[in-house]
Amino acid sequence: MGTIYPDDDYDYLLDDDDDYLLDDDYDYLFKGILLGDSGVGKTNLLSRFSKNKFNLESERTIGVEFATASINVDDTIIKAQIWDTSGQERYRTITNSYCQGSVGALLIYDITRKGTFENVERWLQELRNHIDQNIVIMLVGNKLDQRHLRVVTIDEAKAFAKRENINLFMETSALDGLNVYNAFAELLTQIYYAAG
Ligand code: GDP
Repeated sequence: MGTIYPDDDYDYLLDDDDDYLLDDDYDYLFKGILLGDSGVGKTNLLSRFSKNKFNLESERTIGVEFATASINVDDTIIKAQIWDTSGQERYRTITNSYCQGSVGALLIYDITRKGTFENVERWLQELRNHIDQNIVIMLVGNKLDQRHLRVVTIDEAKAFAKRENINLFMETSALDGLNVYNAFAELLTQIYYAAG
């Protein structure tokens, strides 16, 4: 695994409390992007959200890739098309076409690696260089299953988010799935309300 094919079908429904829907019908389509250093878990967060899959040895992301999943907000079906960086993050830059049309972004770091948190600021700058101010951004601390190795506290992450006017923050684990659905659903819900 490691590669997410755009047209992958998924035909499962998750637990009752997760409002996943099958892929054929939707009211809104929102494009979102993932940003953050290599290795923070972008690819696995996306596959956990879109296919409920995790890979311990995911390969480097190559090529242009996105995955889709739909959620239900107020009886409205929102389909998310979420793009992974395709390895662009190795150069700590992203392209215009990657950002184009995005209405949401997950800014991801690894709670066990300080450098990935310090670089979030650069990712944010990069994002703001490419996109209009209205994009909804969520700061995401991933690898919560490794909280015993935590070096980034919730307080410092929240303080950073506040300073940068980022209203959404969550910690997740792509490995055990904790908060992954919640993070994407919250982002999409906020986009939906901002658009409405
Ligand atoms: P990306 O480079 O940002 O796309 O990161 P990947 O999704 O490829 O993940 C990098 C490595 O971290 C892989 O070995 C993953 O198995 C691992 N990984 C990703 N998410 C988690 C997580 O939530 N917890 C743990 N323990 N490992 C993770």
